[in-house]
Amino acid sequence: MRVSQFPLFTLKETPADAEIISHQLMLRSGMIRRLASGLYTWLPLGLKVLRRVEQVVREEMNRAGAVELMMPAVQPAELWRESDRWEAYGPELLRLKDRHEREFCFGPTHEEVITDMARNELRSYRQLPVNFYQIQTKFRDEIRPRFGVMRAREFLMKDAYSFHIDQASLAEGYQAMFDAYNRIFERLGLSFRSVDADSGSIGGSVSREFHVLADSGEDEILSADQGDYAANTELATSPGPVIEPQAPAEASKQATPDTETVAAQAKHLNLPLDRIVKSVVVMADEEPAVLFISGDDELNLIKAARALDAEDVRLATGEEALKATGVPKGFIGPIGLPEGLAVRVDHRAATASNFSSGANEKDMHWINLNWDRDVALPATADLRLARAGEPAPEGQGTLRSSRGIEVGHIFQLGTKYSDSMNATVLDESGKDVPMHMGCYGIGVSRIVAAAIEQNHDEQGIIWPQPIAPFQVVIIGIGMDRDEAVREAAESLHDAFQGAGVEALLDDRDARPGVKFADAELIGIPHRLVIGKKSLANGKVEYRGRRDSENRELDYAGIVDTLV
Ligand code: ATP
Ligand code: MG
Ligand code: MG
Ligand code: MG
Repeated sequence: MRVSQFPLFTLKETPADAEIISHQLMLRSGMIRRLASGLYTWLPLGLKVLRRVEQVVREEMNRAGAVELMMPAVQPAELWRESDRWEAYGPELLRLKDRHEREFCFGPTHEEVITDMARNELRSYRQLPVNFYQIQTKFRDEIRPRFGVMRAREFLMKDAYSFHIDQASLAEGYQAMFDAYNRIFERLGLSFRSVDADSGSIGGSVSREFHVLADSGEDEILSADQGDYAANTELATSPGPVIEPQAPAEASKQATPDTETVAAQAKHLNLPLDRIVKSVVVMADEEPAVLFISGDDELNLIKAARALDAEDVRLATGEEALKATGVPKGFIGPIGLPEGLAVRVDHRAATASNFSSGANEKDMHWINLNWDRDVALPATADLRLARAGEPAPEGQGTLRSSRGIEVGHIFQLGTKYSDSMNATVLDESGKDVPMHMGCYGIGVSRIVAAAIEQNHDEQGIIWPQPIAPFQVVIIGIGMDRDEAVREAAESLHDAFQGAGVEALLDDRDARPGVKFADAELIGIPHRLVIGKKSLANGKVEYRGRRDSENRELDYAGIVDTLV
């Protein structure tokens, strides 16, 4: 490509309204332009990068056995009413009416549309498992669009949806997507981390986010410096999906929470048992009471503590909690209390939807959280159990806090949508059963900004090679006057193109300094400068984008040297 045909729209000044470096550099390098709040035009240079990201995502989805399709961006309201999300999704959903006053939305995500397709097309367990994906424009009326394409209103997402006969198959499909996502972010050349996550308005139980690590990231993630533990702290603050609370009367019939109760609650919430807080026991009749919550998902512990409006939260062993209250050990529920949260809480002030309580024959109270996740949780920052600098929940290392940009999110939805929308297939015995679903999103356009947050210097962007808009830029010093230099630059350009390497020949009538500055701003990994003198010696000047010095390379065979 020649700059005379591929116009660059670089800016010298940093635009005043761009707060973070990726937004500044995307504007300055001429990748994007703002049309209105959260709406951006992708200029040719930006689009080249976007397409490169898209291609890596597409290749790895295909490799993982997913099949591409394309669904409409505009979706009928009826489908969203069926899944109960027309109201529940809130103001982020852009609602539209057609000329017949029929209601639609501009899709922020496509669970409803794909479930409708699946219930019409999939009939038998023999057609499962199957995974469909698309790469398509979404619209979310974000309350605070900012940071350019990082949090836009219109953005490009890869969304995939898998259908399975049962939970076991869903777990396998989810694992395959987890592996594919790891490959995608590795191939993109980004430093990333996957973390336990909240399922938000998409729903489901198990979910994992992929974060590009960067100080400007909007999310705080906690990760152990040894072992694999990592989680988004959002897990501890978000209220989660709307779920019918268990009837308090039912729960209070039992004297102590037993394994069955917990299992029933886990089932009720469609949660695997090992992810739910297992045991909650409250001591003496005094208030505020000391409550001990144990379980192996510490972020659920925090959630529980918040739901109860706890005043004081400490990490303690079961023994310590017992000592603090002087309650005989035998009282503690059947599940066992290795380590958990000791919280002081005035449980009488908490609402019945948070928990149910009862008394046993020894006149001691217990509280049984019924996992009504529809509780508005107070966002009290100091209730965080997993604080940076504390030991790791999995018993290894220390927790470190870092900032992350959410670039991907995978979910096990279970039967949330297939139940409400009646998406069933015939199983082996000929019975109609709801399909188990997974869904898997990647913020394709956000990745472009995230990559810049992680890869830049004073001069501009430093593209990871796999997503660079051009691999090499060629600058001929005085090429508008010097025929030999022009010829060498042109033929080098053609040779790269012939070898399938995207090269940009800067053939503008401009000073070399301007061309160097633009090449650095745009972040092209390799720069070749052809000057009259060095050319006479069969040499060109090479500089890698991260290098601080030039190197002389032989003009002959340079394509092979760099490819
Ligand atoms: P966020 O927490 O940043 O609002 P989300 O959890 O609402 O994101 P998902 O529903 O998980 O987003 O969508 C899948 C992916 O789409 C996200 O992981 C993210 O990379 C991308 N994405 C979501 N919202 C935006 C946005 N407003 N602009 C750009 N990309 C977005
Ligand atoms: Mg969001
Ligand atoms: Mg999120
Ligand atoms: Mg998400």
